Amino acid sequence: MQSRNESLFERARSAIPGGVNSPVRAYRGVGGTPPFIVRGSGSRIWDADGKSYIDYVGSWGPLIVGHAHPAVLAAVRAAAEDGLSFGAPTEREVEMAEVLKRLVPSLELVRLVSSGTEATMTALRLARGHTGRSLIVKFEGCYHGHADSLLVKAGSGALTLGSPDSAGVPPEIAARTLVLPYNEVGALERAFGERGQEIAAVIVEPIAGNMNMVVPERAFLEAARRLCTGHGAVLIFDEVMTGFRVALGGAQARFGVRPDLTTLGKVIGGGMPVGAVGGRRDIMERLAPLGPVYQAGTLSGSPVAVAAGLATLELVRAPEFFERLAAETLHLAQGLTAAARRHGVAFCAQNVGGMFGMYFRAAPPASYGEVMQCDKAAFTRFFHEMLARGVYFAPSAYEAGFVSSAHARADVEQTLAAADAAFAALGR
Ligand code: PMP
Repeated sequence: MQSRNESLFERARSAIPGGVNSPVRAYRGVGGTPPFIVRGSGSRIWDADGKSYIDYVGSWGPLIVGHAHPAVLAAVRAAAEDGLSFGAPTEREVEMAEVLKRLVPSLELVRLVSSGTEATMTALRLARGHTGRSLIVKFEGCYHGHADSLLVKAGSGALTLGSPDSAGVPPEIAARTLVLPYNEVGALERAFGERGQEIAAVIVEPIAGNMNMVVPERAFLEAARRLCTGHGAVLIFDEVMTGFRVALGGAQARFGVRPDLTTLGKVIGGGMPVGAVGGRRDIMERLAPLGPVYQAGTLSGSPVAVAAGLATLELVRAPEFFERLAAETLHLAQGLTAAARRHGVAFCAQNVGGMFGMYFRAAPPASYGEVMQCDKAAFTRFFHEMLARGVYFAPSAYEAGFVSSAHARADVEQTLAAADAAFAALGR
């Protein structure tokens, strides 16, 4: 007998390429049938067969206050009652821009879009329009959405599927993207030394979360800042994942490095489609209708989506929100590491704020190369052992995990008990 998850996946594959609307969801990296999710509440989700899971994906980052938070739902309902979309200015958009400006001081002006991909695409066009140059520097294993220029040695799904470069990206476009190793100051200095006059922008995940989680050296981010300033290039921090996830002011607040442009997404939509690009006034003023760099969106600043985002951003501003989130995430990371050690499995985990990495190697990786040295087969076994025990991690060895404020200590303890059994099975 087929389970309901299996029959839904079969139906899905006959109507949708691979049965999914975003590749990692298909479980190609780990094998098996993806659970079809029916509903979520707080830290938990339920699948079509009625099985419940403690969720550490959180819709890939947005759900920092957990699933179906009553305050977020109330805001969405209230906004929806007034109409879904107008394609005209609304007050909530202004409020959202003001909140973002207040919490992330490098944002002097903010434009809202509908996804992280749109935000990074806009940031690149702005940087190119501002500098009159075309070369983009990105880092190996960083994922910035699926715009052509950025699908070069990208992480996340592109990495999970083993195809860092996508078919359909014209070689002439890929040639305008220079890919450098993450965390290597020397390589960045050499690139600026050789091609500094061509470089429009450096785009970086200020904590990489799409090749598992890789924490930068502060010196690496500082070098990017110094070199961009020295050569008139635009420094873009892609904080789609880290924004309102690792600290209230994002990774830029943690590291004390101020980018020229910042891209946001995920948490600022609270589970609805919202992205943003913001930064230096002189650069942002180049956007249409003020300037010559074109960008637009029928549903940009959607009242319902922005309402979800505003409600979420209000909740994360509560006193001690990030301290508590970080403490729970640290407890998880330390507990996982200890459980693995008890069973002699080469594994460690670490967190930054509410984001964590799990590595099947002795020490956390500092580069894409070191991420590739992790034992992927061990991850896959661990993943399935945990899924069977009701713990839902990202179905890939190359994704960061996320804890929400709805994860109680009891959830984490239950996860650690499951991990103890899972590592025992792996150690055998
Ligand atoms: N940048 C980063 C750092 C991301 O993690 C992601 C999505 N995981 C994106 C950009 C793209 O965002 P979206 O999927 O909303 O287009």
